[in-house]
Amino acid sequence: MDTTAALTNRQFFYDGLSNTSSRLTSGRDMKVIYRGLYSMFPNGFPEILIFDKLENDVPLMVQPLPNGNRIYYLKNDTDEAILQILSKELRNPTCDVNPKFPYVHHNMSEYRIAEWVVSACYIADTLNIPMNQIVFSSEALFSSCTPNKCILISDRLDSENMLATIAHELRHVWQETHNSEWLKNYKCLESGIDAYVSQMAEVDAEAFCLKLFCMVSGIDYIKIFRHIRYNVDLGEEYQNSILNRMKEIDIILSAKKINILRKYLEYRDVA
Ligand SMILES: [Zn+2]
Repeated sequence: MDTTAALTNRQFFYDGLSNTSSRLTSGRDMKVIYRGLYSMFPNGFPEILIFDKLENDVPLMVQPLPNGNRIYYLKNDTDEAILQILSKELRNPTCDVNPKFPYVHHNMSEYRIAEWVVSACYIADTLNIPMNQIVFSSEALFSSCTPNKCILISDRLDSENMLATIAHELRHVWQETHNSEWLKNYKCLESGIDAYVSQMAEVDAEAFCLKLFCMVSGIDYIKIFRHIRYNVDLGEEYQNSILNRMKEIDIILSAKKINILRKYLEYRDVA
């Protein structure tokens, strides 16, 4: 859902970065780190963001959030080195907090962060792509795949839309290597809603996420438009193009993984 709001967020994303000497590492595969953290801290862990470098060349910084949680910023390193730093720090926090770090904030609980980054890894597996960094944000009205290949996700999504949105944005990452021609003349929302939603990149991303959602939730294809998301207002022709693309897309997802994702879908925030 790359909307006007998301473009503003994207600008924010870069403004936030240009105010510091730091840059979020582009295209970093987070699967080993997300899964490693989940195995150590299954009840939740803070948001982890990895940068090419940090101010004063420190390996680790922490930003407190209004909800009492933290975001950890790490200098890019091997998966093992990063997991080692985090394992020590999260068990016994000693890193000084830096309240001035001008980056992002959100209201996600650590439990929700852990569940969703790990469920995102399963979706990335089904697409056979790396799992890029996920950035949760209160500023993001919608979500987007940023040019530095991070997935910006609004923290206000319910669990159904969280699953669908992560899948939609990961499908755009998949398109970069499988159908990059769809992204060459990508039309933003300013081009008009019809031109935006009917372009192949958006039809394919939406069809993928809705098909995955149907598989996980057990909801019928036809009912899906009324059940989640905004598609119901966009007319029959649009819905037919999505349904036709859904028939073309093959998603290979084992029963075991469907059950795991279903657990996340049924998850209610208890933290
Ligand atoms: Zn999109």
